[in-house]
Amino acid sequence: MNYYNLKDKQETVNFKTAAIKSQGSQKGLFFPEKIPQFNEEFIQNLHLYSNEEIAFRCMKDFIGDEIPSEILKKITTETISFEIPLKKISEHISILELFHGPTLAFKDVGARFMSRCLSYFLKDQDKKVTVLVATSGDTGGAVAHGFYNVPGINVVILYPKNRVSAVQEKQLTALGGNILALEVNGNFDDCQNLVKQAFSDESINSELFLTSANSINVARWLPQQIYYLLALKQWKQYENQDPVIGVPSGNFGNICAGLLAYFRGLPAGHFIAACNKNDVVPDYLKSHQYHPKKAVATLSNAMDVGDPSNFTRILELFGHQYEHLKNMISGYSVDDESTLQTIKEVYEKYEYTLDPHSAVAFAAMEQYLNENPGKKGFILGTAHPVKFPEAVEKAAHITIDIPEALNDLMKKDKKTVEINADFEELKRFLLDKNQEQ
Ligand SMILES: *Cc1c(COP(=O)(O)O)cnc(C)c1O
Repeated sequence: MNYYNLKDKQETVNFKTAAIKSQGSQKGLFFPEKIPQFNEEFIQNLHLYSNEEIAFRCMKDFIGDEIPSEILKKITTETISFEIPLKKISEHISILELFHGPTLAFKDVGARFMSRCLSYFLKDQDKKVTVLVATSGDTGGAVAHGFYNVPGINVVILYPKNRVSAVQEKQLTALGGNILALEVNGNFDDCQNLVKQAFSDESINSELFLTSANSINVARWLPQQIYYLLALKQWKQYENQDPVIGVPSGNFGNICAGLLAYFRGLPAGHFIAACNKNDVVPDYLKSHQYHPKKAVATLSNAMDVGDPSNFTRILELFGHQYEHLKNMISGYSVDDESTLQTIKEVYEKYEYTLDPHSAVAFAAMEQYLNENPGKKGFILGTAHPVKFPEAVEKAAHITIDIPEALNDLMKKDKKTVEINADFEELKRFLLDKNQEQ
């Protein structure tokens, strides 16, 4: 499969190059040249296939022969080597729990797939590779975990100071080894801009072999389709209508993967882009005007994004047909107060504990179902509530027991270097670090 650059359609690359380079010229995102269709029999009979077989089939067309099938099978199997259950919360709303992986967030799926693909592609490379990544909270931990101790790879993570939760911060900063955490005086958009600048800086790129692990990378974006299939397999065991799918959205990689699966033939009734106060896309869906904004801090911090990168991929998927897009996706913006209220109500009514991100999706789904009676759907549960204990305790006065693995992590020391949101500081750090090795 080839991928073209959304900013320069003449630039086409294979999967390997797209995975290693992450983005094309003018910081353009790569997009698959064809949308491979699911076999109809396969989609109708998902229950007859194992999760491992579903994951492999979902990815094969995007990789072609660039990774031998038996190795790809191993990679896709490891990508989903934890439970991904669909659970019914209320009569109309189920939740796909994507948080049973090593860092208790859905980003484990993309990070595990990507790290394994890169380590396959780079196995014969002699220059050390630096994975540079900006995180609003969860990406960093998933990437750190996915790449920890992978030979030949260093990871540099940029995160906004004081804007990630205590658990998230430990997941980014306590591993050490080949994982380096930079604490940036700024917000997530600043971190993301620094990373983007580094990729287009000639002097950095002549010294270091840089690659990204942000959701813009096809190797992180594409495997997220897998769990939409796994959800549908379970959904069809107890529901007979096509599900409305609610996705807590920030950078819009996750929902964009679901939409891609939909264009390949996944039966989905409707998509909900569930946002917090950062409402650029809900605004666009109302007004047909796209105005990036400065990100504001919220309780669902992994969604504090003011100019979502993957939005351009969504436009491309819909062939820039606004009407079609508007009919398929509804956008909602949920504030912190409603988020807390939702956590409280869902706990009291259904004895289910939502994390703030999943709560945004639950609130959005409830609104949509009220406006569209008779429909049913599931939300993506993107993080385990234990990652956000303060918010959850504040909302519902419940204390969540910290799993043992997390307890060990919390006892470890935080190791970071603090920088300003200033590209020259990042550059100096990267070049100096490279000299040391
Ligand atoms: C990253 C993240 C999101 C947002 O996902 P996008 O793909 O960036 O839209 C939602 N919830 C949690 C817990 C996350 O970590």
